[in-house]
Amino acid sequence: MYIVQIASECAPVIKAGGLGDVVYGLSRELETRDHCVEIILPMYDCMRYDHIFDLHEAYRDLWVPWGNGAIHTTVFCGWVHGRLCFFIQPHSNENFFNRGHYYGSRDDHMRFAFFSKAALEFLLKTGKRPDILHCHDWQTGLVPVLLYDIYKWHGMDRQRVCYTIHNFKHQGISGADSLHAVGLRDTAYYFSYDRLRDNFNPFGINFMKGGIVYSNYVNTVSPHHAWEARFESCGYGLGHTLEIHQSKFGGILNGIDHDVWNPASDVYIPHHYTIETFEIKAKNRKALRERLLLRDEPKPIVAYIGRLDEQKGVHLVHHAIYYTLSRGAQFVLLGSATDAKINSWFWHEKNYLNNNPDCHLELGFNEELSHLIYAGADMIVVPSNFEPCGLTQMIGLRYGTVPIVRGVGGLVNTVFDRDYDEAHPPEKRNGYVFFQTDNIALESAMDRAIGLWFHYPEEFQKLAKQGMAYDYSWHDPVDRYEEVYKFIKA
Ligand code: ADP
Repeated sequence: MYIVQIASECAPVIKAGGLGDVVYGLSRELETRDHCVEIILPMYDCMRYDHIFDLHEAYRDLWVPWGNGAIHTTVFCGWVHGRLCFFIQPHSNENFFNRGHYYGSRDDHMRFAFFSKAALEFLLKTGKRPDILHCHDWQTGLVPVLLYDIYKWHGMDRQRVCYTIHNFKHQGISGADSLHAVGLRDTAYYFSYDRLRDNFNPFGINFMKGGIVYSNYVNTVSPHHAWEARFESCGYGLGHTLEIHQSKFGGILNGIDHDVWNPASDVYIPHHYTIETFEIKAKNRKALRERLLLRDEPKPIVAYIGRLDEQKGVHLVHHAIYYTLSRGAQFVLLGSATDAKINSWFWHEKNYLNNNPDCHLELGFNEELSHLIYAGADMIVVPSNFEPCGLTQMIGLRYGTVPIVRGVGGLVNTVFDRDYDEAHPPEKRNGYVFFQTDNIALESAMDRAIGLWFHYPEEFQKLAKQGMAYDYSWHDPVDRYEEVYKFIKA
């Protein structure tokens, strides 16, 4: 099949979180199965150009209809670690993608409405007619709307859309200006509740809702989160819409790229290891300590890697730091915050803990360091408020780093409590799970994990190896996506 991914991220060239990993990993696995995959992305000024090979113009003068005129756009093309990517670069005063960041502008809805429009215009003008358009998150929610209400009438009537929701919290809610800009002129038509009108804001149109209503298949990134989105508050107001469209909605667990995340060959870690040579992992712990100036003593390292955001349970992350230290273990944090308050809070903590030889907080985004932490830490804590899938626990498992997670979303589908999980036999359990959002719940799980490390080291090692034995690669998820593609194409 010929599949085009349309997304706002693709690792490692554009990565703000898990979405980037998913777009890359999914595309790669599809290509190994002989599908033809292309990826359309915005051309941000701040992306990692050093990861693009042979960047060149693919379409110099693309005029993208916009409002009452058109925006002169150039589409570039290059290879990102073997994947063929097209980058949309508009030449207009708005400078949509030259903002020094991927997200967080006041006009994000206009930026990504333009991106969606430009992606389709590019396909139309170049005569590309993929079987499947695979769109991701609110940024591309207008793609199926535009496809079925405009582009279908220009010859793109055989394309089918799979729409994957990675995070229901961000839905792209805006006024009618973006509709007008992309050429969806009949405002009243789109402002109906069974189309794009937001379920709770009567003056807002909701890009993600458009994606759900118009796509041929919709999924979120784990089976449990699909359930939560429909029946709990995790759908952030879209539960009813999902209920209406339940026959085309499901959950497909994300995978991780087993070549990128491989302790046996990872270029960013000094000592390679496998389940059979697990004891070598300790050398990475030592290397991590040297790198972060932590003291080298017989104690475990607990890590947190991820965005510092309400979603991730920042209060529990904060508590985990001090609880770890009180239990005589070490803590390493790698995270970045976009929220100014959370950012200054963690900077304050960083300064406060600066001279503590058992703790290091690294604030910022650092891909290379993240690999060393996965390899060097003993446990990784993921206390999320909600978590559509979560990659850090799966990466942790791959590196023999025992996850301690809150039982929500994809965490439920991937981590099985060593002491209490009844659905899995003891030899299939791989971590620790707690459920409530209070400190006591977190402490009870951390206590069990740290206690096992100190008092039953062999048991702890066994648990870590059981985690390494899990296969959370793209193999099974891509089986599912292939089924979906075939189903909607038929
Ligand atoms: P998200 O909600 O951010 O998508 P996921 O757990 O799905 O969370 O994916 C997070 C991905 O981003 C993982 O690959 C993780 O290693 C990476 N990551 C998150 N924060 C950082 C950071 N500060 N530095 C390096 N990598 C990070």
